Amino acid sequence: MLYFNNCLVRQLLQFKFLPDDLEVKFVAYVISDECISCGACEPECPVEAISEEEDKFHIDPDICIDCGACEPVCPVEAISPE
Ligand code: SF4
Ligand code: SF4
Repeated sequence: MLYFNNCLVRQLLQFKFLPDDLEVKFVAYVISDECISCGACEPECPVEAISEEEDKFHIDPDICIDCGACEPVCPVEAISPE
């Protein structure tokens, strides 16, 4: 198992520069229960990985490219790397 935290590896996989059977786990940012649903993080995301759910905002780990742009705008520090 290899752990990566950047979009470079995603691109390498996409363009077949890495073997298909290589087991790779990406680390995404997550939003905790501290979220007060202010919505400040959503427009910061360059890939639209953040969306509003019933009681808080959520980051889709399959879309997040781990850029970290959302983390500093959160007023309650609810966003962190997984
Ligand atoms: S870390 Fe970057 S890609 Fe992931 S949710 Fe935050 S802004 Fe979007
Ligand atoms: S900026 Fe923080 S408090 Fe506001 S919606 Fe995003 S995670 Fe929730």
